[in-house]
Parts: sequence; C-alpha cells; structure tokens
Amino acid sequence: MILCLLPLPCQPVNPMNRCRLCQESVKLINSHIVPEFMYEPVYSGGKAQSLSGEYLGSRRLSPGRSFLSSKGNREHLLCARCDNEVVGNIEGKVRQSINLIREYRFSADRGHIDVDYQYFKLFELSLLWRASISNHWMFANVSLGAKHEEIIRQRLLTHAPGEPHEYGCIVLVTRELRLMRAMIHAQAEKYGRHSRYLVVTPGIHFDFYVSSHTKNLQFQSLFVRKSGKLPLLRTTEQYDQRVLDKLVRMVKSSSGENDANSTR
Ligand SMILES: [Zn+2]
Repeated sequence: MILCLLPLPCQPVNPMNRCRLCQESVKLINSHIVPEFMYEPVYSGGKAQSLSGEYLGSRRLSPGRSFLSSKGNREHLLCARCDNEVVGNIEGKVRQSINLIREYRFSADRGHIDVDYQYFKLFELSLLWRASISNHWMFANVSLGAKHEEIIRQRLLTHAPGEPHEYGCIVLVTRELRLMRAMIHAQAEKYGRHSRYLVVTPGIHFDFYVSSHTKNLQFQSLFVRKSGKLPLLRTTEQYDQRVLDKLVRMVKSSSGENDANSTR
C-alpha cells in the first residue's frame, strides 16, 4: 500500500510503439517513472502508516476516503531491454547509495556521501529524462524540450554522464517523516536564465538546474562531483511544511473539497 496521489490516469498508450530510449518499434512495457525501489519507505510503512488524511495532522481530510494507490506511477515508455539492461542497470548501481541518502536524514544538517559518479549522475539524468518524456500529470511541469531530451537520451544509451554542472542536481533529504511516504507532483520554475525542476520522491527531492550555460552557476559545489563526492542537504522545517501544504491542497482538490487557500 502506497502513496498518496491519485486520479487522472495516464492517457491510453498503444503498447506497440516506439521505445523512447532506443527508438525501436517494439512492444513497450509498463515501466516506472520513479524507480520502484524509491518507494520502499512507503511500502515498508505498511497500510497503517501509509499516508492518509489523518496523517496530515490537524488539517484532517475526508476520513475514510482512500487516496492511496497500490503502485508508483508507471507508463509505457520503454522496451523491456532498455528498461532492464539500460535503466535497470543504472538503478542497480545506485540502490545502495539511495539507502545511504535516506539514512542521512538522521545525521547532521549538511555533509556528503561517496558515490560512483558515472552511475549516480546517469541515475539523476534518467530520473529527469523520464519525468520529461512522461505523459503522467505528476510530471507535467517537467519539459526539457527536444534538444535536452535528446542529449540525455544519448548519454543514457552510451553511459556517458557528462560534466557535473550539466543538468546539475542538488539532492535534498527531507526531515519530515511523513514525506518519506509521500510524493507531490514535480515542480518547475525559472531560476535566472535556467529552468529549475524539482522531482519529488519519497524522502528524497532532486533539484535540477537545466540550460546550456549552467557552467556559470555559483553553487556547483552542491552537485555530485567527479571525485564521487555527493553533497547532501537536509530540508528545513519550513520547506517540509510547504510540501505538506501542497499535498493537502492536492488531496482536498482531488476529493472535491473546497480549500480557500488552494493555489492549484
Ligand atoms: Zn528500447
């Protein structure tokens, strides 16, 4: 039993279509946008601990209404070979690092872990790329455009991670326990001449900076480095509260309740 976030199913997709990665016309499989193993904190919470209205604290919502789904968001985007051998291989290489990142929420405010640069960077790229090509409403705000989608597609196929500042990403670890079991839709905003995308997974938020001139970004030291050093930032209480508030608004909106404070 899992996540929040509900309705609006993906548009029907012909399972015989072009794989978005290798571009061959083959049968596509229903694969995850956010890797299945990223949902483990949600699964391990069990039904009783899964996110529900009661768990959103004082802003109690529609008791008894289920807004849990049984699986993470999936979509027909990739062929079995690309899903297993390309993306699956990358994910397998970073799984242990993801577990270490989650444990980081119990430690100091700022620090780092050591990762395999090539695979961790490829993992970040695969997450951003899948969010961009997805048709699912959860990722509707992420739109890299054809040029950047193609650059990343080639990098994934050739296992070429590129430079740290290219599609640079700050990894944020949430403090709030409830956010270990919750996702909100991906966020987007302009940051100077760059596009900023926040891809939210349970307990770990990926803050991407995208443009053709990210070499000038001043906080590149927060991106994963070629040495394998991955800086980690814990979110603030204010940040976590903003995410919870968005979650509340989404749930209320989907359950048809009025929310005077809703902005979405
Ligand atoms: Zn393929």
